[in-house]
Amino acid sequence: KADADYLISLVRAIPGFPKEGILFRDIMPVLADARGLSILMDALVSNLPIANDEFDAIAGLEARGFLFGPALAERLGKGFIAVRKAGKLPPPTVSESYALEYGEATVEVERDAIRDGERVLIVDDLIATGGSASAARDLVISCGGVVAGFSFIMELSGLDGVKALGDHPTSSLLAMP
Ligand code: IMP
Repeated sequence: KADADYLISLVRAIPGFPKEGILFRDIMPVLADARGLSILMDALVSNLPIANDEFDAIAGLEARGFLFGPALAERLGKGFIAVRKAGKLPPPTVSESYALEYGEATVEVERDAIRDGERVLIVDDLIATGGSASAARDLVISCGGVVAGFSFIMELSGLDGVKALGDHPTSSLLAMP
């Protein structure tokens, strides 16, 4: 409880960023704090949505999924797969586009990063509508992988993002109003 409160106390809420009407949740102060980072990593490990032997690799979303995904993967004895914004990875890649509020976005992985039948846990700092995580899910499937589950640090409640992911084991450490 003390650890959870400490973690929550480090998450900064910034109204009007990156645009008006948005309340941005910032995990950077958690990472910058030695105790906060240690609590975070321990909490991610102990709140996995599935057992450690039920997945083979971790895929993290650019950019904040890159900040703790590899550390988590290393702790669990897994490899890390980078899900990047379009145009950053060398070919051959596999892409998936998804709708944003205005326009669309594309995410990519290196085609050979995921083996056939590999069970992948997808991680990101925060799930809002679930659009980004759903695109990562579709990418894993396009590559012949299996989506083992999702792990988030924060979940924005009231947006039903987790429902958009479909029927996969999912965990999030902190529910944010
Ligand atoms: P979604 O696709 O609507 O679920 O939005 C989630 C994506 O947007 C994740 O990659 C998040 O990192 C980012 N995101 C959305 N809102 C926030 C926020 O308040 N803080 C940090 N990241 C956010």
